[in-house]
Amino acid sequence: MLVSDHGVSEFRLFQKDTFPMTRFCLPLMALLIGLTQPLNAQDAKTENTGWKAGVARAVITPDEPMWMAGYASRTKPSEGKVQDLFAKALAIEDASGTRLVIVTTDLIGLSLEFRLWLQEEAEKQFQLPPAGLLLNASHTHCGPEFRPAKLALPGQDQGRVDQARKYYEFLQQKMLALVGESLKNLQPAKLGYTHGRAGFAMNRRLPTDTEPRNAPYPDGPVDHEVPVLKVESAAGELKALLFGYACHNTTLAFYQFCGDYAGFAQQDLEAEFPGVTAMFITGCGGDQNPQPRGTVELAEHHGSALATGVKAGLLGPVQPVDGKLSTMIDTVTLEFAAAPTRQELEELSKSTSDYFQRRAAKLLKQLDENGKIDQTYPYTIQTVSFGDDILLVALAGEVVVDYSLRLKQELKGRAGAVWVSGYSNDVFGYVPSLRVLNEGGYEGRSAMLYTTLPGPFAQSVEDLIIGKVHELAEKVTAK
Ligand SMILES: [Zn+2]
Repeated sequence: MLVSDHGVSEFRLFQKDTFPMTRFCLPLMALLIGLTQPLNAQDAKTENTGWKAGVARAVITPDEPMWMAGYASRTKPSEGKVQDLFAKALAIEDASGTRLVIVTTDLIGLSLEFRLWLQEEAEKQFQLPPAGLLLNASHTHCGPEFRPAKLALPGQDQGRVDQARKYYEFLQQKMLALVGESLKNLQPAKLGYTHGRAGFAMNRRLPTDTEPRNAPYPDGPVDHEVPVLKVESAAGELKALLFGYACHNTTLAFYQFCGDYAGFAQQDLEAEFPGVTAMFITGCGGDQNPQPRGTVELAEHHGSALATGVKAGLLGPVQPVDGKLSTMIDTVTLEFAAAPTRQELEELSKSTSDYFQRRAAKLLKQLDENGKIDQTYPYTIQTVSFGDDILLVALAGEVVVDYSLRLKQELKGRAGAVWVSGYSNDVFGYVPSLRVLNEGGYEGRSAMLYTTLPGPFAQSVEDLIIGKVHELAEKVTAK
């Protein structure tokens, strides 16, 4: 910019100059005009990008002890916090006024019910179209349990349900206000894309003679990429860092509120770059765990490794992001395999597990009321393109790593960078690839027992999702 500013001021100096135009001056003028034209053109590209960006944040740590999400084996409510939990919003607007608001949260996951409420309110109050709202959860297992579906356990203490409902409503208002605030904060901005790597995510589907066991599997597939969206003011001041990683946020399993490794990564980056909003977006980490795990020190260590991955990315070439924003959101109807029979459900209802009893009760109710069990699920897929530079695919549910590895290959060439996230818009359960489905194990089959869905998924699950992603990716990248 210095060179370019210099060129511009030199040129202006000559324009104002009373210096007589001699034949000696003319070649110099021509040289300066020649110099300033390309520099001005470059100036327009990097300084006046047409982008606007705005950020906002809110603390969402419950202010009283609450039951926590993520592990079915918990026996008591939370006991204090290690760090605050946050919801953060990044609003982006292109030159034509198309807008996107990405909201990241230190939470286990947001339900479809939550998303539908928020998108409706955001459209009503801020004219933000549904395709312009992207919600993601870090899937920390040290946050509050507030999902309505998880609270309908038989014999559940009503006080616990009421408290969760109150938190749910608090979160609705907080996140709606956050979306509005981020849009209000829109200012001219520059966007850049880069990526680094971090190595602590490990596949957790250890092969055995029968089904894979939930245990570290260092030879299994992983996605160690750390994609980074860098947001600066028009003047080049760093404003926000949005970064992703494909790994369960499960270093910790205790009774204090904490963002786990993703919380520490955000904290590290915000300490290193004062005034910056660091935001974490979860990738396809359904079958990935941080390793090793179990202590706050390890969570801090992984957080620091992830923050280092972001900083390493910033050292490399940062691709300026140009062009226009395009967003799409749609659902594809996923199919489940054969539904459990009445007899199987009656058997399940005798289980000692609250979760299994709840599942049996819900599905038996469907059978009684409708004569059949609903065999489909409306699966949400969102795609966002930032000109030719980034294609972002946001998938619902706990998506296994096969999806990001496959989609990054298949969508290569549609944009400079392909960024695939899971845990977006509706975190309802695991989303296995065909391989994982057929191998079985937790993510393939047994995790479904903790939901009220009539899973496992049918063999069509991967084809249906991938097919829809291609359709929506094509739409947002069409010229
Ligand atoms: Zn999970």
